[in-house]
Amino acid sequence: MRFASRAHPARVVSFRDALFTGLAPDGGLYHPVEVPDLGGLFRAVDDSTSFPELACRMGTALLAPELDTDRVGRIVRRAFPFSPVLRRLDRNILLLELFHGPTCAFKDFGARFLAAAMEDFLATEGGRETPAGAPGVRGPRADAPQAGAPRLSARPAHIQILVATSGDTGSAVAHAFHGMANIDVVILYPSGRVSELQEKQLTTLGGNVHALEVRGSFDDCQRLAKEAFGDPALCQGLRLTSANSINIGRLLPQCFYYAFGATRRSELGGATPVICVPSGNFGNLTAGVYAWHWGLAARGFIAATNVNDVVPRYLSSGRFNPRASTRTLSNAMDVGNPSNFERLEEVFEGDWKKMASLIDGRSVDDTRTVQAMKKISRECGVLVDPHTAVGCQAAWDFLEQRSGGSGDQVIVLSTAHPGKFSDIVRDATGVSPELPERLAQCLALPKESHLLGTALPELRELLLERFS
Ligand SMILES: *Cc1c(COP(=O)(O)O)cnc(C)c1O
Repeated sequence: MRFASRAHPARVVSFRDALFTGLAPDGGLYHPVEVPDLGGLFRAVDDSTSFPELACRMGTALLAPELDTDRVGRIVRRAFPFSPVLRRLDRNILLLELFHGPTCAFKDFGARFLAAAMEDFLATEGGRETPAGAPGVRGPRADAPQAGAPRLSARPAHIQILVATSGDTGSAVAHAFHGMANIDVVILYPSGRVSELQEKQLTTLGGNVHALEVRGSFDDCQRLAKEAFGDPALCQGLRLTSANSINIGRLLPQCFYYAFGATRRSELGGATPVICVPSGNFGNLTAGVYAWHWGLAARGFIAATNVNDVVPRYLSSGRFNPRASTRTLSNAMDVGNPSNFERLEEVFEGDWKKMASLIDGRSVDDTRTVQAMKKISRECGVLVDPHTAVGCQAAWDFLEQRSGGSGDQVIVLSTAHPGKFSDIVRDATGVSPELPERLAQCLALPKESHLLGTALPELRELLLERFS
């Protein structure tokens, strides 16, 4: 599979280059330029196919010949020591739990595949130097040898991942890269503006994970990261690489769990499911729509948002009007201008009617989110986090209005563990969710971070001193 930006569809790049550069040289997002047919693969999968096996088959079908089965298998085994779990909620709804990874949210799937793939490329390419001026390629060189012709050396290539985070993305990325030999991770987070649990997840790993606590806002962190990527001294002295959510290396692996959920045929009673996706930046839904585009049997999708409903409005009106985001209980979905929207648009060739015939947009406000958490706790005996609750309520609304019959099956993606949002869940339901062991452990560890101002020179000096 090869990738290009929308403005320059003929300038195709390999998976490897899309992975290490993040954005195309013209500043656009990478889109897949081919439409592979995985229909046969999906039909051959059944309830006995394990998640790693399915991920390996899909990954090979998408990434060969650039990556062969052995390499995809190695990356998948490294990335996914955990699996999604499909659990029945009521007669019509199944939850696909995506929170069994190290940071208890679905972002672990994308971040860990990205990290494992980068590590594999770096190890395979060894210490080949990066000739200066390779267009648009930050990090290892575009024409470095592929599988079959590795040239290893004593000093493997070393890169630094730089990410700004408002909380959850940073911890998924930090955990994904933790302990990798040729990669350092630098996290910029706003001092005093992340929860204690989020801060502990960022600052207790140590080793190759460096947490920088910025005396400022999330916007300051983002601006600092942007300035660092454009800074000549840093570009010369280091190999700064980004790992943000628009990276195709985070998006592609999310297709794997859609295929996993939609092919558990006995749990679905043979029905072709509708898949409901709690959405903010719309990376998750885009991955599902890719899987459908490539042949996965799904009756359609529900785009479930909180009051930040730019996409549901587009689906009903054909007009896309981004606006400032509003704060809600499902704060990982507080996005007013979803950056993956153009990828969705591309699949439907800009035709909103086509998009609206596949995707049903639903918005759920905080009051109904709380009611949904309460109802699910009382009637189903299950605690869900506020993001998953938005999805469940949207699914009920859909079933009430658009149901094709009582045998309808909706798979709601459960994007985070309720223990990550314990205050909100307890206030809504009166029940305290258990904190998973791995989160409880990091709460007990001492925080290690470095305080930093909001001006670039201080960050530049620190990075050069530590890494060049
Ligand atoms: C990031 C996130 C979302 C939104 O996913 P997008 O891909 O940005 O649409 C939903 N739920 C949780 C818990 C998240 O962390």
